Amino acid sequence: MAEQHTIFQALSWASSFLKEYGRDSNAGEILLRAQLNMSRSALLAKLREPLSGTDWNQFEKSVKEHAEGKPVQHITGSEEFFGRTFMVNSDVLIPRPETEELIVALLGKMEKSFEGSFSSLKAADIGTGSGAIAITLKLEKPELSVYATDLSEKALETAKNNAGRLGADIVFLLGDLLQPFVDRGIKLDMVVSNPPYIPEGENLSEVVSGHEPHSALFGGEDGMDFYRRFSQVLPFVLKEQAVAAFEIGNGQGEEVQKIFSAGFPHAKIEVIRDINGKERIVTIVQ
Ligand code: SAM
Ligand code: GLN
Repeated sequence: MAEQHTIFQALSWASSFLKEYGRDSNAGEILLRAQLNMSRSALLAKLREPLSGTDWNQFEKSVKEHAEGKPVQHITGSEEFFGRTFMVNSDVLIPRPETEELIVALLGKMEKSFEGSFSSLKAADIGTGSGAIAITLKLEKPELSVYATDLSEKALETAKNNAGRLGADIVFLLGDLLQPFVDRGIKLDMVVSNPPYIPEGENLSEVVSGHEPHSALFGGEDGMDFYRRFSQVLPFVLKEQAVAAFEIGNGQGEEVQKIFSAGFPHAKIEVIRDINGKERIVTIVQ
């Protein structure tokens, strides 16, 4: 008879196996919980129970895949963002916790600028990927009219599926940065984007560079191509009173602030740090 493993034994094996490969040793618990569809407390209550042979085989396979570099979220097919579950795949960036802070900063600026009254305001998320930002905005502030764009048809497909599952009513537009709004003559009260901002050639972990779309990660030689392009068109797409917020990479704050100052000489432009103390967000309020 094949050897049986308890949940405890399976988790201990995964933890040391993943450590050997330089991966996060907690990934085993995430994978097993997703596989058995169990909360953390349910799993912990069953530590002494045996795993079925099929479950053990499946778990061993998943842990090995992650050790080889496949992101945990590509194995489970999902990621949590702002308290909701988003489906992800290799066509979209896996939403990051830093981006939750972008949303918090944006909502704060909007409350101030529009005094908490958002009805009939038009907001757009540029480069929506999984739809994480646009869908969260719509569900947090249902009065907003929300647009989401991407240059990748496959990303938009994933974002539409997420919006459908989560019940967010959003207008999706395929196109290059702000061009869909220029083409349609739509003026916006609010623009948010987490554009690709990693400098070309930067060394990333295999989990990221081997599995996530490069078109979602790299922003030219210094990583700032997208901010330069935004700064040229954004002034013509925003209304007179408006708010914009961009995610940035650490160390890009001063330069991105300078880039946007050219297009918005009278606006208040701020660099905000994330909870790890890294420059992460630039906001423009005009
Ligand atoms: N908004 C998502 C998030 O925060 O998780 C995804 C952000 S990802 C860093 C950047 C996204 O921008 C990708 O989905 C990519 O396809 C899209 N993108 C890249 N170039 C673009 C362009 N020229 N116009 C519109 N979207 C673009
Ligand atoms: N935060 C992502 C990473 O470090 C990058 C996302 C982006 O380029 N906008 O992998």
